[in-house]
Amino acid sequence: MRVVVINSGSSSIKYESFNLNGLSSAAKGLLECIGAAKSRLKHRWLTPAGAWEEIAETRPVADHREGFSFILEVSGRARADSAETEVFAVGHRVVHGGEKFREPAIIDDATLREIEALIPLAPLHNPANVRGINVMRELLPRVPQVAVFDTAFHQTMPPRAFHYALPYDLYQSAGVRRYGFHGSSHYYVAKEASRYLGIPSDKLNLITLHLGNGASATAIERGKSIDTSMGLTPLEGLIMGTRCGDLDPAVHFYLARKTGRSFEEIEGILNRESGLTGICGTNDMREIQSRVSGGDVRASLALEMFCYRIKKYIGAYYAALGSVDAIVFTGGIGENSAVVRGKSCEGLAGIGISLDGRRNIASGSGIREIQAEDDRVKILVIPTDEEREIAQQTVEVVGRAKDHGR
Ligand code: ADP
Repeated sequence: MRVVVINSGSSSIKYESFNLNGLSSAAKGLLECIGAAKSRLKHRWLTPAGAWEEIAETRPVADHREGFSFILEVSGRARADSAETEVFAVGHRVVHGGEKFREPAIIDDATLREIEALIPLAPLHNPANVRGINVMRELLPRVPQVAVFDTAFHQTMPPRAFHYALPYDLYQSAGVRRYGFHGSSHYYVAKEASRYLGIPSDKLNLITLHLGNGASATAIERGKSIDTSMGLTPLEGLIMGTRCGDLDPAVHFYLARKTGRSFEEIEGILNRESGLTGICGTNDMREIQSRVSGGDVRASLALEMFCYRIKKYIGAYYAALGSVDAIVFTGGIGENSAVVRGKSCEGLAGIGISLDGRRNIASGSGIREIQAEDDRVKILVIPTDEEREIAQQTVEVVGRAKDHGR
């Protein structure tokens, strides 16, 4: 049997199918450009002989419903040579779970209404997640569906960390507070760190740095998130591919008055035209690094700013935690960019954080230790796997519900 994980975005659907037994990956794919004249689907699957094969197809896909049908059709064709395909459960990534969801939830009509009620908090993300859920419930009505929330892992933050210093009423009436995101990734790498170091999670203090196109830092005290850099929305905190991260809130009013731009336009600038892209024109860290080598001043500035912001968060979370067992780098940049890891940890030897230059640049897959030999704080590179974490949580929740029903 299979566990299918769906990450439904505004114009894309990412999915992965796992064997229930052992949660090994069986197939995965990405449909992009939904709503455009040509939507691209790339589907990969593992053949019984143990080799990955790939189909790429392009066709017009008007909406998510057509998108899912397209995926089912293509994956059905690919499945002709692999026997067991019955779906045990579907896990949906849902970006915002508000304060309501501290844990993953089986999706029924009531859960769906609650997720819809959270749309005002995440207008750029939750509507597409809901669309994915609706279509999958229709297509597989008898299969349990589970929502796994990006925010849930951070619901352990204490009030002093999650409140903004705004009129308290805005928290009570409008839910304005820090929620944090990338929860499945921070949780997954924290568990991996615990396993790797042989230290139980409830005895482990970590700073986890998820550095991909979106980026966030989390302070984890004895296995629980006590602070994180993303806030009410994923816009706050670290500098990202196209998002600005921390910013004086007065910039919004100043821009509105000075340039006459609407709130929607400013929201677009801060979310899609800022961050690394805003400074040097690209969000691709590989390109930035190669431009830096060629002497490109803007690319150097973007890289310096990106790493300096990370370093500030390491310092802040070190202070919040009091003692740190390990710093974890993950995400496309965290896992692959020795330059970013090196610069982000520069000058921190005084607080027991220093990288070993050779270990940092050594290539390798899996978990790696890159701190200097006798350093107090371990520095780990841990590949993240959010889909697998969602699959794991989906299986656990469905298993518990079934036990309960017995
Ligand atoms: P997403 O948040 O979209 O899942 P990823 O986690 O895949 O993003 O990270 C994408 C980022 O990782 C891009 O900036 C990309 O340039 C960067 N990246 C991927 N491989 C490397 C590499 N070998 N060196 C430096 N950066 C890399």
